[in-house]
Amino acid sequence: MTRPALLAAVLAALAQPLAAEEPASVRFAARTTPAPGPAEPIGSYARGCVRGAVELPETGPAWQVMRLSRGRNWGHPDTIAFVERLSAEAVRLGWKGLLIGDIGQPRGGPTPSEHRSHQMGLDVDIWLRPPARLDHSPETRERLAFVSVRSADQRSVNANWTPAHMALLKAAAQDPAVDRVFITAPAKIAMCRDAGTDRAWLQKIRPIAGHHEHFHVRLKCPPDARLCQTQTPTVAELSKGGDGCDETLDWWVTDYLTPPKTPVKPSAPVKPRPHPRDYTLAELPRACAAVLAGD
Ligand SMILES: [Zn+2]
Repeated sequence: MTRPALLAAVLAALAQPLAAEEPASVRFAARTTPAPGPAEPIGSYARGCVRGAVELPETGPAWQVMRLSRGRNWGHPDTIAFVERLSAEAVRLGWKGLLIGDIGQPRGGPTPSEHRSHQMGLDVDIWLRPPARLDHSPETRERLAFVSVRSADQRSVNANWTPAHMALLKAAAQDPAVDRVFITAPAKIAMCRDAGTDRAWLQKIRPIAGHHEHFHVRLKCPPDARLCQTQTPTVAELSKGGDGCDETLDWWVTDYLTPPKTPVKPSAPVKPRPHPRDYTLAELPRACAAVLAGD
């Protein structure tokens, strides 16, 4: 290399910003085996990891894992047991079983795409599409379309919503391992309307944006999980023991969709909340470094 060329190369190198640390999401996504050791969720649903996760079999007696290429059918053993229980319940309700979406990566952690949570192996997405069959090929599992239960104007359920959907959501909410279930507000509104006098379970059903093609079940921290942080506020605190069938639910199909016009006041710029996919390893609980590294 000539001296001017060498100088140019050095100057170019100096002009580069310091290499950014690889996000924890990329590092966790690269691990294809679980961290050895007893099963233990660590941290919180949106900032954590899991040791000793187990794989939900791609096909079970009453379920199929969808989108196998994502490799996110790993979870805490409690979650795997829950899927077994709920899929058996789906059969009792007249479905062939359940189509299962993401649980988590083999060691949990943030995912490079989509979720904020699903990091401790205690969250599972379940399709709202009743399966026509449970012997789909891997290719079909990649491309089978979601089915929405929400109307086009986002204010009510559509004809895809059935009494079996409600019974399934009720069974999920009544499962003692479940902390809460997230689903589109129109589905909760329909359940509030149709629940009759047995309403305590509705407290665990939480309205959320999206979630009209799948529902999301979040399990409680297992009683012995020392490093697992229970979500606060708990649903009980949040709804003061009520069923949540109130004006906060109606907001999702009114002001949320068509915000009232208010005079524009200058305000301090809102600092965007960082997405967990961008967290560095140092931003996760300390024990997650060992979970990531262990073999
Ligand atoms: Zn989810």
